[in-house]
Amino acid sequence: MDGKGSRQAEGRKSVAFVTLGCAKNEVDTEHMRERVADAGYALADDPADADAIVVNTCSFIQAATEESLEAVFEAADLPNVASGRAALVVAGCMPARYGADLEAELVEAGAFVPCSREDDIALVLAETIGKADGEGAAPCAASSAVEGSSAPHGPVSAYVKISDGCDRFCSYCTIPFIRGRYRSFPLDDVRDEVRKQVDRGVREIVLIAQDTGRWGADFPEPSTLAALVSTLAEEHPSTWFRLMYIQPEGLTDELLEAVASHANVCDYFDIPLQHVDADILRAMNRTGSRADFEALAARVRRRMPDAALRTTLIAGFPGETDEQFEELCSFVEDADFDYIGVFPYSREEGTRAHDLPNQVDEDEKADRAQRLRDLADAVCAPRIAARIGRELDVLVEGREEDGQLFGRAMCQAPEVDGVTYLEAGEVGDIVRVRVEDTLLYEMEGA
Ligand code: SF4
Repeated sequence: MDGKGSRQAEGRKSVAFVTLGCAKNEVDTEHMRERVADAGYALADDPADADAIVVNTCSFIQAATEESLEAVFEAADLPNVASGRAALVVAGCMPARYGADLEAELVEAGAFVPCSREDDIALVLAETIGKADGEGAAPCAASSAVEGSSAPHGPVSAYVKISDGCDRFCSYCTIPFIRGRYRSFPLDDVRDEVRKQVDRGVREIVLIAQDTGRWGADFPEPSTLAALVSTLAEEHPSTWFRLMYIQPEGLTDELLEAVASHANVCDYFDIPLQHVDADILRAMNRTGSRADFEALAARVRRRMPDAALRTTLIAGFPGETDEQFEELCSFVEDADFDYIGVFPYSREEGTRAHDLPNQVDEDEKADRAQRLRDLADAVCAPRIAARIGRELDVLVEGREEDGQLFGRAMCQAPEVDGVTYLEAGEVGDIVRVRVEDTLLYEMEGA
């Protein structure tokens, strides 16, 4: 939750946002905030003090839906909403996934805005705030300023979404049903968004999508992520660019070359593998095998020996035998990855995997996921420690409450890979530090 301005000070209707879920949702919230500010609303810091609260929900797995529902109920209990003075709007993935069923159940909400309708958020607010206070709906003053816009996780780094939706239809995943078919955002739109963030003082742009590596393939004249990142890196030589969520098929030699040949593109690859057993991957409606993925990691290392590699894995997919799980563990032990995120399989209604036989017991899934996590920590920590003595550029992000300065090196993506503590620098600087020590995923530089 963030924002500026108060309705008392400005005499305008105010809107507060609450965001659940991933970085892509944070970007969507930023866009809604801009639309709302453009329409003349003030952006409120505190939902309890707003005329409307927009809860931008996440719903790609059951646990995320539950968390989103909790946030909606929490907002509904605030005195301004409970008394009918403020409107409550439920936006994002949850209305996209559950549609009319959700509307029938969630009577606390005044309106629902699925992902596909987020561009209309100001119109929906005008109607909903009108209903809540019984007045005319329009905000009092028009303002073209994008008040309160900020990078989602601090002033120096910003996510920029380059496409939406997904065509892969992995058998366990709800995203294609929630977000629709894959569509790349036009080059000029991405460039404009990057320019805007750079003009705001952002020093790192994190390019995100459900399937980043496919960018441009759906244009009438197809383009590639390699071409996009090269263009952006050359237009903004003092800005770091980082790519997240590249499916294995998207890691082409052209992309490797584009990353390797631009000093301001982070030598960092986030490649969701999900599993390594070919039969499980087939059941997931994915391709590849352990040998393919080991070859892929080796290909990256040959071109960029010091690149950081991240992946995510799913434990306890339906039908996963003890042997297949052991194979996954053995891959984690041997594979050349610096960061490994592990998730227990989540059985989602409406997906093909939901109806597969031999579902793994919940406790067993949790045990397998924990075992993989422990293994990943044991394997990755020494890799991080091997950076001791190396000199790395660190983007200074801020200070902890105790005043300790921190930032991130190119090998550390925001929010997932830990930070680097350092002794000197100003927020927004990129400073050269020598890695002196590490503690699991955190680094200490001087
Ligand atoms: S690639 Fe697979 S897991 Fe990722 S969003 Fe698309 S369908 Fe879901």
